[in-house]
Amino acid sequence: MNESKTTGSCLCAAVTYEITGDPMFTGHCCCIDCQKASGADHITLTFYTDDQLKISGEIAEYGVVADSGNTNYRQFCPKCGSRLFSRNSAREGVRGVHAGTMDNPKNIKPSRVLYTKDQRPWDHFDKDLPCFEQMPPPPPPKES
Ligand SMILES: [Zn+2]
Ligand SMILES: [Zn+2]
Repeated sequence: MNESKTTGSCLCAAVTYEITGDPMFTGHCCCIDCQKASGADHITLTFYTDDQLKISGEIAEYGVVADSGNTNYRQFCPKCGSRLFSRNSAREGVRGVHAGTMDNPKNIKPSRVLYTKDQRPWDHFDKDLPCFEQMPPPPPPKES
C-alpha cells in the first residue's frame, strides 16, 4: 500500500492541499486556454480522484467550454490568483492538480503532451513523450 503524501499551496498559502497516493496520470497541456489562464507556455496537470485530495481554504473557479463541448473549470485562489486545480464537467470526481503548486511532487511522470498544435516554438519536452495535436481519448479508469 503506497501512502505517499503530496502537499501543495497557492502563492499566498490561503489555499493548501494534501494528496494521498499516486496520480492516475500526468500530462503537459499546451492549449491556448491553459496558456492564457496561466501566463505560462503550458500547464503540467496531474490527475487524482477527489477522494485522494483534501483541500483547505476558499477556491474560486472559471468555466470555459472546451473543444469537446464539456466545460473545463479552472480553479484558483481568489486572493493571489494562483491556479491550483482543474475539473471537467465530463469527469465527475476527478481533478487535475497543477504540478507547479506542489511542495514535494512525488511520482509525477508526465506521459503525454496535449495540444501540440498550440505549442510555443520555444517550449520543449522529452522527445520520447507521445504528442497529441488536440485531446486524445481519455485513458481507461484506474482499477482500485
Ligand atoms: Zn493564494
Ligand atoms: Zn490546456
